[in-house]
Amino acid sequence: MKKNDSNIKKAIKYLNNNDCIAIPTETVYGLAGNAYSDKAVSRIYKLKKRPKNNPLIVHYYSLNDLKKDCKIENTFDKLFKKFCPGPISFVLRLKKTSKISKIITNNSNSIAVRFPSHPLTRKLLNKINYPLAAPSANISTSISPVSKQDVVDEFGPKLKFILDGGSSKVGIESTIINLIGKPHILRLGGINSKLIYKLINSLENKSKKIIKIKVPGTSKLHYSPGIPVRLNAKKNFLNEAFILIKKRRNLNKNYFYLSKTNNLKEAAKNLYKIFRVIKKKGYKKIAIEKIPNINIGEAINDRILRASKK
Ligand code: AMP
Ligand code: MG
Repeated sequence: MKKNDSNIKKAIKYLNNNDCIAIPTETVYGLAGNAYSDKAVSRIYKLKKRPKNNPLIVHYYSLNDLKKDCKIENTFDKLFKKFCPGPISFVLRLKKTSKISKIITNNSNSIAVRFPSHPLTRKLLNKINYPLAAPSANISTSISPVSKQDVVDEFGPKLKFILDGGSSKVGIESTIINLIGKPHILRLGGINSKLIYKLINSLENKSKKIIKIKVPGTSKLHYSPGIPVRLNAKKNFLNEAFILIKKRRNLNKNYFYLSKTNNLKEAAKNLYKIFRVIKKKGYKKIAIEKIPNINIGEAINDRILRASKK
């Protein structure tokens, strides 16, 4: 406990100095900096090698904090009450008076925001008087980190501080929903899309138009383990790592299990971790068994489909 408090103090020191640090969230680790500071935000882009046209998600502690920067859309309250803090991000309109660095949004007047639930990061957010811009703490296009060690593997000594919060519980990025115009999901993620649509359908203004926003995170090459990935595999070829949804009795050194019991939540939590283990072991190819496309399985399938694109 004491250790956590002193680490939070250290984290705040770096952040107040416009440095970026890694923070734990329930989805994946984030590379965080003061969202009101151009200097801090530029450092995030530089370290991640992220293209400037790919906007960052901004992390808030409370609704009151959010209201300083964003306009609240109709459907927001209900989604907020049901899912926040948690693995869901909202695209909202920025207020003219907002202090958010223009670099974050690439000068657009919309912004993606979220309320992470990890207790350490909530504690940190509560102690600072600015929100944190925090994309996933990985080099652009590679897979997101789900532990302190993963972040070390990504950035090495270039990153000055990592707030260690153990391994990420969800293990896959947030669901992003655009609430400008007719609400629609831009990226599948930690919260199942059907749950979200069920909740907002009753509120949704049917006459509203879908406002199209291009999301680089949904572009072809993303979440890539850096080696070829083959989907819906029934068996693996020689020297191919084989990712299976549940543990099998016939042990094989090339087999990697996403879950002990066919549990999709556990599978999501383990996906990126297993990608990294396979790469570290030196495999040059990955085959993945068919994953059921239900609940968080839809987000797993979204990520492995992108990982399989060349
Ligand atoms: P990452 O932070 O790396 O997990 O990726 C965040 C995703 O959120 C990226 O795909 C961004 O393109 C998307 N995003 C961030 N800000 C916005 C925005 N203002 N409008 C639409 N998508 C956004
Ligand atoms: Mg990312």
